[in-house]
Amino acid sequence: MAEETKIDYGIFQEAKEFWEGVERSEFFIQRCQDCGQYIFYPRAHCPHDMGSLNYERVSGNGRILTYSIVIRTGDPQFTNLTPFVAAVVKLEEGPTLYTRIDVEDPYSITFNQEVEVVFKEQEGRKIPLFKPVNHVS
Ligand SMILES: [Zn+2]
Repeated sequence: MAEETKIDYGIFQEAKEFWEGVERSEFFIQRCQDCGQYIFYPRAHCPHDMGSLNYERVSGNGRILTYSIVIRTGDPQFTNLTPFVAAVVKLEEGPTLYTRIDVEDPYSITFNQEVEVVFKEQEGRKIPLFKPVNHVS
């Protein structure tokens, strides 16, 4: 394997509590104290009304809004992960986020599929991914 690479997540002050939650396998995102809306990605102020933000633990449940199966990538950090599913997930609390779907068969994914957050070790640190929810019928 190629030499170990370290992904730079660009941790800044507003994202500190998000990444601390991830380290504990807990999913925290910001919520506006004025308009009540949840937001993602982490910011200094609410993008809707410039209100002040607090972190709240959320369900980690959502649906796949759209996705793409990545067969080849020029990014060496992701080469050994192909094929993988890059997706936009809409959380049940409202915000959307760009993520990867943790699934054995990328071709089993469908639009609007229910997913839940899962915390995976990658490049020496924990990151939040999403996996399909399998309902037992
Ligand atoms: Zn707001």
